[in-house]
Amino acid sequence: MGRDPKLLKFLDLILDGGFSDIRPVFDPKTEKLVRYPEIEQALEKNAAFVSRLIEDLIRLGYLKRSFLSKMVICPVCNSPDLRYQTFCHKCDSPYIVKIKMLEHLFCNYVGKEEEFQNGQRLICPKCQKELFIIGDDYNSPGYNYRCCECGAISPTPKEKWFCPKCENLIEREELKDVILFSYKVNRQEIERLRRERLPRERIINILKKDGYEVEENTRQVGRSGAEHEIDILATKYSGSTTHRLVIGFSINETEIDSEDVIKLYAKGYDVNAQDVILVAIPKLSPDAENFARHYRIKVFEEKDLERLEEEFASATQ
Ligand SMILES: [Zn+2]
Ligand SMILES: [Zn+2]
Ligand SMILES: [Zn+2]
Repeated sequence: MGRDPKLLKFLDLILDGGFSDIRPVFDPKTEKLVRYPEIEQALEKNAAFVSRLIEDLIRLGYLKRSFLSKMVICPVCNSPDLRYQTFCHKCDSPYIVKIKMLEHLFCNYVGKEEEFQNGQRLICPKCQKELFIIGDDYNSPGYNYRCCECGAISPTPKEKWFCPKCENLIEREELKDVILFSYKVNRQEIERLRRERLPRERIINILKKDGYEVEENTRQVGRSGAEHEIDILATKYSGSTTHRLVIGFSINETEIDSEDVIKLYAKGYDVNAQDVILVAIPKLSPDAENFARHYRIKVFEEKDLERLEEEFASATQ
């Protein structure tokens, strides 16, 4: 993914604060059921590409997800527009009615509210005492459901969901849950990726395409007998000639000083490299620039990274 300039553009966008909080939009027509229209638009990429990109970024630790909301959708057509319906648990008729239940705390009798109704008053059918204050001398334990077709009474009706779109009746267990997450950008990690990891991956890709064998973070013993740690050592064999390239990465808050340039030159010389390249992020100090010019070291500063592919090709000719 390091090769894709769209990723860099995306990272720039989110680093600029435009997308510090990425929120999905539910879309029943996409494979993942969610899409990110703002990001698709900014990158000029389709929903599938952006979903994969976001998954990659989560895996690599550049995005952190947090629960946003949960949706219940139709398992047949993915529609979120479902209608709740209740049915008789015995005969499946939808013609059931709610009945309010009352409990007389004095004698513990439980019955339908209508059994207690006596004009304006509530009278217990068991003990014939009047009920006065709810929560004090009587309670309502809730509702029961009575089927008007078969007369069955149940505290819980059978529940189903009707999908008007595909006209299916769905049981509770068949409903599909979709959990939506929002994503926060891990700024520190993204900044590191942009500065360190991406240029390195891009350079490795360019070299491999160009036929180089690439060794990363390798230890090499030079002609002097000294051992050197080399960020990238690239070798290309053509016939009897060998072209050897040493690439170093220097990253600092403000600028890279001449010491890094001199050390890299010494390594390159000692391992017999024809070309030495320094990626200096963000830039070289004026002093370091003089050394680099003197030693004929090709330098890529942060500002050069956009044109890395073209510039690099000409530097390794
Ligand atoms: Zn449906
Ligand atoms: Zn019934
Ligand atoms: Zn009673």
